[in-house]
Amino acid sequence: MDLGIAGKWALVCAASKGLGRGCAEALAREGVKLVVTARGDDALQAAAAVLRALPGAAEVRAVAGDITTPEGRAAALAACPQVDILVTNAGGPPPGDFRDWDAETWMRALQANMLAPIELIKAVVDDMAARGFGRIVNITSAAVKAPIDILGLSNGARSGLTGFVAGLARQPQLASRNVTINNLLPGAFETDRLRATLQGAAAKAGRGVDEIADARRQGVPARRFGDAAEFGALCAFVCSAHAGYLTGQNLLIDGGAYPGTF
Ligand code: NAD
Repeated sequence: MDLGIAGKWALVCAASKGLGRGCAEALAREGVKLVVTARGDDALQAAAAVLRALPGAAEVRAVAGDITTPEGRAAALAACPQVDILVTNAGGPPPGDFRDWDAETWMRALQANMLAPIELIKAVVDDMAARGFGRIVNITSAAVKAPIDILGLSNGARSGLTGFVAGLARQPQLASRNVTINNLLPGAFETDRLRATLQGAAAKAGRGVDEIADARRQGVPARRFGDAAEFGALCAFVCSAHAGYLTGQNLLIDGGAYPGTF
């Protein structure tokens, strides 16, 4: 299927690795011109080189910086001639016990996983509406639907973003102008973040990391972890010309792990 977005410009945040990278690769294959960001320049330049070499790839610009800061966002936005597609993403907050978290800890999580996406959306959404095309995808987490006890910072900050987006996406001045805003909710995907989480859990339990990973896979009906490429494929479809009637949704992609009917 031709997704109908070749030649559009996309800003994909936190895209040198993992899920953001999966989204950038899928969009690059569709001929979308990209600005990709990440904090570390070496990994980002390496990722950009791979993106440029993909079949169908167009222009790829790499901007190193922290997307949770105003400077990082300004640099990313300045590199993108116009943002037709925005994929918001940043590292997830650390696990822990809420009894240990002070207001500063909460502010960091809110900046990364709620306020940074909202600031980016604010910067681009009205121009999208004026041009009559816009696709915004926020990478959130399955924890929005089924909270994970040790990830209270993530549960809280991402739920705030989700509630905000639910209202914004339904503004007629956006929806009637072919601007969609959706959230993708990953379950367990094989990325550096998941590997670090599994290593932490194994160390805490005094067990091997393979054993912990196997137990986690058994909790997924698909009996495997997700692959960033399949996450990227969903993102690309949601960003496609065909998905203009899909807005304000929370799309879970978790191998069936969430046990509810809805
Ligand atoms: P990852 O660690 O594999 O990759 C994170 C990417 O983000 C890297 O490119 C890193 O350089 C970049 N990054 C991190 N913080 C940044 C910042 N402040 N500014 C710019 N770039 C930054 O992580 P991932 O697994 O791809 O996860 C992406 C998001 O999805 C995270 O918020 C994570 O919590 C969430 N998530 C992941 C999973 C999973 O199983 N992998 C599940 C649920 C939610």
